[in-house]
Amino acid sequence: MEHLQVSEAQRVILEAVATLGTEPVKLEQSLGRVLAEEVCANRDLPPYDISAMDGYALRSVDLGDIPATLEIIEDIKAGDMPTRILASGQCARIMTGAPLPQGADAVIRVEDTEEVSAEALSPNSDETTSHSTKPASGQVAGYLPQAGERDAVSLRENLFDRVQINQSVKPGNDIRRRGENMCNGAVVLTPGTEITPGVIGVLATVKRAQVQVYRRPRVAILSTGNELENLDEPVDPNKIPDANSYALMAQTQALGIEPVLLGIARDDPDELARYLKRGLEYDVLLVSGGTSVGVHDYVRPTIEALGVQMLFWRVAMKPGHPVAFGKLGEKIIFGLPGNPVSSMVCFEQFVAPALRHMMGHKRIHRRTIEARLTHDVKHQPGRTEFIRVMLAQEEGGYAATSTGAQGSGMLLSMARADGLAVLPADCNGLAAGSTVTVQLLDGTTFQDDAGFRE
Ligand code: AMP
Ligand code: MG
Repeated sequence: MEHLQVSEAQRVILEAVATLGTEPVKLEQSLGRVLAEEVCANRDLPPYDISAMDGYALRSVDLGDIPATLEIIEDIKAGDMPTRILASGQCARIMTGAPLPQGADAVIRVEDTEEVSAEALSPNSDETTSHSTKPASGQVAGYLPQAGERDAVSLRENLFDRVQINQSVKPGNDIRRRGENMCNGAVVLTPGTEITPGVIGVLATVKRAQVQVYRRPRVAILSTGNELENLDEPVDPNKIPDANSYALMAQTQALGIEPVLLGIARDDPDELARYLKRGLEYDVLLVSGGTSVGVHDYVRPTIEALGVQMLFWRVAMKPGHPVAFGKLGEKIIFGLPGNPVSSMVCFEQFVAPALRHMMGHKRIHRRTIEARLTHDVKHQPGRTEFIRVMLAQEEGGYAATSTGAQGSGMLLSMARADGLAVLPADCNGLAAGSTVTVQLLDGTTFQDDAGFRE
């Protein structure tokens, strides 16, 4: 079997895996899932024309001469229904979200008005002496509430039955129209939508306490190798601690899936077959180690003996060369390299897109950005190379710096990495200052295409 390019291997995988079936979830549990149904509005929102401001609902024709004084005939709060129709020269005090009274065609915000007490119009009124401020127009004397005095006004609102309007407004001003947000029956969300906090807000708005989403794959993880030591075993200086089970677990969890760890299988065909059979009860099996061409690398022949159809087992990449992929009915199995960095890099290139595709996501690849290399990078043409880099923000973009020694067993280089810089296969190395594509490892944003050239 020839060596595939990364993108060819990704294509083989995506052709082999299907989006899983659907299941209902409660709205509270749906964050990060993918909607599997069309969602429609179940009413008009707003249900009627409402005010967009705290202010006065009025008839715009009444504002021929500014300032104009209007009679306040009603007080409409959010949740109230208006009881009166505005006639010429009348207005209603209205709060944000309250329905517009009949006859009104505009709202003016309270900041462009001054309430006036009818009683205060009398020259001997106490109000004039105790509270008066300079009348803006010189036309109307009396108590003129200032910004911040709304509480005082509402406490005494029966005193104020007139308002002076200091600005003219056009018809429709500061009105939110019925159905402006959504119209009854209109499609508001389509299948394939990733459920973000904003989507949850929309679902709550249309009263969906439960939604249909794509199922998440059941994933099993198996490590292989006689040299491996389990996390709960005492430290044996002659052994190698099993890092892959846990790093792969975390990469899977980062996609919103809780995997099952099957443990460590020894390099023995019978033991391996027993573990692999258990693993093949899951939708996806990730096996690390034993996939290369060593005499004791039994994974590939054992998988094949169990009836799995191998679709590839080598990819022209570094690290990660001995990566295998196979299918058994609807189940898929990845044979990942034993070297911890290689298995993690292969997870990002092959496993993550497959899992996201199964869960119904449209954006399945890690987000890429362009960055400036801060140093020279050597590269032998032939394979696509993924270099662990740290990123720093700089003027005009990002600077990428290698995390240090890049050996495929150097897990610390992965622990320090913000991303993987991708060197195309035909590249002869890059000089400091060159632009390089970096696949981001942190965050939860994904994109449609792999976004790098091989
Ligand atoms: P293999 O692919 O089995 O030849 O393994 C390649 C290298 O990766 C060897 O040095 C293994 O000891 C190491 N390795 C394999 N599996 C793991 C694992 N689960 N955790 C840490 N290192 C591993
Ligand atoms: Mg091994």
